[in-house]
Amino acid sequence: MLNLVLFGPPGAGKGTQSDLLKNKYELVHISTGDVFRGLDPNSDLAKLAKSYADEGNLVPDEITIKILESEVQKHSNIKGVIYDGFPRTTAQAEALDTFLTSKGTEVSMMLSLVVPEEELKKRLLARAEVSGRADDADPDIIQNRIDTYNSSTAPVAAFYKAQGKLKEVKGVGSIEDIFERLCSAIDS
Ligand code: AMP
Repeated sequence: MLNLVLFGPPGAGKGTQSDLLKNKYELVHISTGDVFRGLDPNSDLAKLAKSYADEGNLVPDEITIKILESEVQKHSNIKGVIYDGFPRTTAQAEALDTFLTSKGTEVSMMLSLVVPEEELKKRLLARAEVSGRADDADPDIIQNRIDTYNSSTAPVAAFYKAQGKLKEVKGVGSIEDIFERLCSAIDS
């Protein structure tokens, strides 16, 4: 199985590139952010997740790990998965390793999109015009998401680096150029 962790700060282009990669490599795309946003808005779980997301904070690990595992369990006989926006903490990365090992597979590689902070802020504010997401529209919340990424999520790269699975990819340029770089990293 090809299990790709597509990593990077908010606004790095993970969702855009996941759509292209899933078609090329025939993978299932799992975005925990999309899963949270897709929950029945009246459910307690959706309200809880939204209370964290709207402020730019991470949903607690225990909830996120359960959601991710149940999402993966929905699929069988697949070629692989793109994990987009998961894992975002070292505890989540450890849980994913344990979970995949129990299924007889493992993370193939982490592809980390590298984008300067100023570019991220520009992209998120532009995305707010079409996404309608509260967490894209407010510069303070954007800053909190970036700070949370730097403090809690960036260390996850070291977790995969220690396993020899980290590949960094420049996430600036045209969508097609970035996609080409990702494909070369996957195929090499
Ligand atoms: P995203 O769509 O990836 O930008 O995620 C939007 C929001 O959903 C994040 O700011 C978090 O509040 C929440 N979220 C998504 N994935 C995770 C995760 N792996 N761990 C914790 N919170 C998450």
